[in-house]
Amino acid sequence: MSVDVSQCRACGHRVYPARLWCPACGHDRAQAVAVEYAELQAWTAMPAKGADAPAIIATARACPQGPVLVLRLEEMPSHAGQRLRLFERRMQGQSLPWASVLPA
Ligand SMILES: [Zn+2]
Repeated sequence: MSVDVSQCRACGHRVYPARLWCPACGHDRAQAVAVEYAELQAWTAMPAKGADAPAIIATARACPQGPVLVLRLEEMPSHAGQRLRLFERRMQGQSLPWASVLPA
């Protein structure tokens, strides 16, 4: 399980989603790299249409090199800094970043 992020072939800067040019150095060639874990930064719960449970939206920094991702969490976290396991889930025809909260 992982999420593919975009890594600049010139300077190694990582971004998500992919960009046409590297925001760090301007190079136009990037490669997809898989990231498996992230550290939770912040989250919020929003009512989800047609669902029993609210949608939990979070920001998390992929470990160890980034980038910061906006993703959905499977369950409510307890504190910032919690370790997350990243995965992609297909929703409405698109692969979107999701994470589960790992036990401390
Ligand atoms: Zn670059």
